[in-house]
Amino acid sequence: MARAPSPAREARALPNQFGDFKSPLLEKIRRRPDLFFMKFTYYGHACFAVQAGGKTLLFDPFISPNPLAKKIDVKNIAADFILVSHGHGDHVADVVEIANRTGATVIAPFEVGTWFEGKGVKNVQSMNHGGAAKMEFGRVKLTSAIHSSSMPDGSYGGNPCGLPP
Ligand SMILES: [Zn+2]
Repeated sequence: MARAPSPAREARALPNQFGDFKSPLLEKIRRRPDLFFMKFTYYGHACFAVQAGGKTLLFDPFISPNPLAKKIDVKNIAADFILVSHGHGDHVADVVEIANRTGATVIAPFEVGTWFEGKGVKNVQSMNHGGAAKMEFGRVKLTSAIHSSSMPDGSYGGNPCGLPP
């Protein structure tokens, strides 16, 4: 069986690609390839994960109700942070399960984050548009998005946001 591509394995191959060339940057990459490469995993719809800097960021988890993602077991998905753009069910369906199982911090617009706190999620970083926060993986800032937002139970979900890199 073929081995899955690994950013770390590819990074370890870098010295060979550069021959005898040496540089401070290449030495840093050799020591901590996880800090310089990221792995992207697409889970369907608007859900994906980015592994970078030793952390896993999961965006808008909608997996268990998605018939196109039925082969994915949501119980196997890791996350250190779950970033949520708005409250619609097709973006928040698996947030509570994954957050409670992994202890991940949920980063969301204020009303959405408050709703998750009411659902028992322990680690929530609620934010407002234009605000930024320094997190373990880097800086996160919510930007404006043109859409709507309400929670699956009809609660007010505030404004949707963008989560630019
Ligand atoms: Zn939506």
